[in-house]
Formats: sequence, structure tokens, C-alpha cells
Amino acid sequence: MSVSRKNIAIIGSGTAGLASAIQLHNNRHQVTLFERFEEPQAIGAGILLQPSGLYVLKSIGLLDQIRSVGSQIDAVRGFNQYGKTVMDLWYRDFKRYLYGVGIHRGQLFQILFNHAKEIGVNIVLGVEVEELSQLSKGHELIANGQKYSFDAIILSDGARSKTRRFLRVKQQAFEYPWGALWKIVEKRPEVNMHELQHCFYKTKKLVGVLPTGIHPQSGEQCVSFYDGIEMNQLDKWYSQTDLTNWQNSLAKLWPVTKNLVTQINSHEDMIAASYVNVSMKRWNDRNLVCIGDAAHGTNPQLGQGANLALFDSWELVHQLELHDSIETAFDEYSKIRMSSLKYYQYTSRFLTLFFQSNYSLLGTLRDTGLPMAQNVKFTYRELLATICGVKGGWIGRLPADKTREVLRGLKD
Ligand SMILES: Cc1cc2nc3c(=O)[nH]c(=O)nc-3n(C[C@H](O)[C@H](O)[C@H](O)COP(=O)(O)OP(=O)(O)OC[C@H]3O[C@@H](n4cnc5c(N)ncnc54)[C@H](O)[C@@H]3O)c2cc1C
Repeated sequence: MSVSRKNIAIIGSGTAGLASAIQLHNNRHQVTLFERFEEPQAIGAGILLQPSGLYVLKSIGLLDQIRSVGSQIDAVRGFNQYGKTVMDLWYRDFKRYLYGVGIHRGQLFQILFNHAKEIGVNIVLGVEVEELSQLSKGHELIANGQKYSFDAIILSDGARSKTRRFLRVKQQAFEYPWGALWKIVEKRPEVNMHELQHCFYKTKKLVGVLPTGIHPQSGEQCVSFYDGIEMNQLDKWYSQTDLTNWQNSLAKLWPVTKNLVTQINSHEDMIAASYVNVSMKRWNDRNLVCIGDAAHGTNPQLGQGANLALFDSWELVHQLELHDSIETAFDEYSKIRMSSLKYYQYTSRFLTLFFQSNYSLLGTLRDTGLPMAQNVKFTYRELLATICGVKGGWIGRLPADKTREVLRGLKD
């Protein structure tokens, strides 16, 4: 069936918005991408791209570029305060040729943004979308006092979206009590540049080191270093924590961080990140659809944010090719993504209790339970499928054809 080309607006030029814009443009839709920043900047820390996200980037021809500036990650590992290995997940144990890529958010953004510009996506910068209103056919978008009308609008304006309220859908957003302090630092020889590593101390401390590839400004290999923090302790940390004591205690807990934390010269070097949990009954209403963090923001425990956003964009564009009616395409999109997205949301929320919470006992359970789960073939594979981004719900994977496509797609 041939479907008509549509005039589509996208709000927000993050991972979800840019990936959607590129794919829709490639399918000859007329796309206008609105971004509130005048000059989008290559900011943020490291992002872990999983096989699901890498597959989408490959399908739009950007995988080689991504790999050239990222660090190949072979394993996700975690140790407790005694140095015992608690988490030991190797991509190759799922499929021999799989891997993740640690990349600076700025590099991912720049690659997508430059590509969108090169192929001729209409990007309107410095325009904050304030309101959406329904027309007899399509929707109207109001930004900087100007009105624009479209056949459909994709809302990808991040976890703190101000436009998601225009969907007449039950929705809820709340801030997680735990966040992180992070900094990009120079790599050091003792850092394994092919593993995402964590160190846990009960449920009170979660320290992480993610190889992040080439820094967009310095051009040097870098790593993202982060230290989890309860958000109500943030002011105290900035105003009262003795930096040297903090550095020493981290180095004592996890010696690999010793030469990373010494690169932190003041409290202000550490940037605070907070996370929003977003839940929605479904992600579409009429000819509006919400994707990425705006639709299902969560904390980064499972390292899936950018991957879910990329996969959303891929599925959405796919549905728009299958159905001429926008409403049907958006309805199908919501239905197809439902169980996978709910799985990732609930799992992230649930796991947080075992890594960052005030229930210390859960830390002990994690330290004994996770290694046991990894010793059983079935649960180990489920954990790997989760990390790889191909879980389609509590039981099973994404629809078999899609899982096959993702996994085979990365084979060469
Ligand atoms: C500044 C920043 C830094 C981040 N750093 C990290 C990180 O270090 N590690 C990590 O794992 N994840 C990070 N993230 C989150 C990560 O980018 C997302 O989880 C993932 O890429 C999914 O992206 P998204 O496109 O759904 O949303 P986002 O990446 O949040 O993009 C949303 C975009 O919408 C724009 N926008 C918002 N409101 C409007 C509006 N009303 N009108 C027009 N434009 C609007 C925003 O400026 C932004 O460009 C960061 C996000 C941001 C915005």
C-alpha cells in the first residue's frame, strides 16, 4: 500500500527528535524540527549505546561515525565494597559479535544534528513550543507567538516536557529521590576502556566509570565518572563536604578512581543530574504522539534512555510507512511499544531500590542474588537481553522478527 507523505512537526532536537527527523525525511515526509536552544550545544556526560540503539543508528548509516568517536564496551560489571564481583554481564555471551558503545552525549548529538542538517531537515532553532491546539484537520503549534499547522506532531521534548500535557492521556511525572554528581575526566591507564564498571557500597553508594570515547572539545579519550547522591543531600555536598575527604573515601572504596577524582579541583567541577520518572497510559492522542524521555523518562540504572528513544523513533517511522491514517499509525505504535517500554520502566524503578535507596538489606540481597542469577543460564540470558535493549516485556523479547533484525543487523 502506498501511503501519502505528511507534514510533520517534531518538538525537541534530542536523540529521539533528531533520529525521527532523519528517518522521516529519508521517507520523503516534510519535517520541521523545533528546538528551544538558539545554538544547540554538545553538552552532557557519557551515554551507553546498546545493541538496540546501535542497530537504529546503523539503519540510518551513522554507526561507523558513532564507533569512530565512542569506546567499544564489551561488558557491564559491578563490584561491592569488598571487591567481590556482583555484576558481570558480557555482551558476547548473548551473541558473539555484540557490544555497546560509550559515547559523549555531545558527540551523539553532533553526529545526529549534522546529519539532519546535511540531508536538509528543516531545523528551527531558538523556538520554544508553548502550546498545541487541535484543528479540524491536524494540529496547530504555537511558538514564540507564531502559529504553525501540521498533519501530525511528535513530542520529543525530554523528561521535563511541557507539551505532553496536551495529550488527553492519564500521565504522571515525579523526580527520583536519587541522582548523581558527574564529571568527564581524562582516562588513566588503570581504567579498563572496554568495560562500564561500578562499585557499590550497600545501597548508599553507587560509583561508576564509563569510557566515553573522544571528548568533543579536547579531542582526547575521556571517561565519565559519577557518584550517586540522594538529592536532598545535594546542597550539603556542595556547601559542607570536604573535597579531599570525599576524594580519599572514594579512592579507598574503589582504588581505580584514585587518579580520576584527583582531576576534580572544586565542588563546582561536579555537575548534578536529577532524573524524572514519567508514566503515561499510552503515548498517542489523535495526531499527537510522545516519544523518548518525554514519554517514558526514567533513571539511568539500565542504561537505556537513548536506546529507547532511538528505538521509539524507528518503530514510529515504521508504523507511518504501514498506515496512511496518522491516528492508526500512532495507535499501532503505542500498542507495539507498550509491553517493552513498561518492562524497562518498571525494571528501572524496581532495581533502583537495590542500588540507591535507604534499604541497606536490599544491597546485601543484590550482592548475593545477582551473582546467583548470573550463574543460571536462563536468568543470565534474560539479564543480557535486558541490557541489550531487546526485552519485549516480562516474558520474551521484542517481536521475534524485530529481535532477529536488531541482532543480525549488527553482525557485520
Ligand atoms: C542537557 C542534557 C544532558 C544530558 N546528559 C545525559 C548524560 O550525561 N547521560 C545520559 O545518559 N543521558 C543524558 N541526557 C538524557 C539523554 O539525552 C536522554 O535520555 C536520551 O538521549 C533521550 O533523549 P530525548 O530525545 O528523549 O530527550 P532529550 O535528550 O532530553 O532532548 C529533549 C530536547 O527537547 C528540547 N526541548 C525541550 N522543551 C522544548 C520546547 N518546549 N520546545 C522546543 N524544544 C524543547 C530540549 O532543549 C532538548 O534538546 C541528557 C539530556 C539533556 C537534555
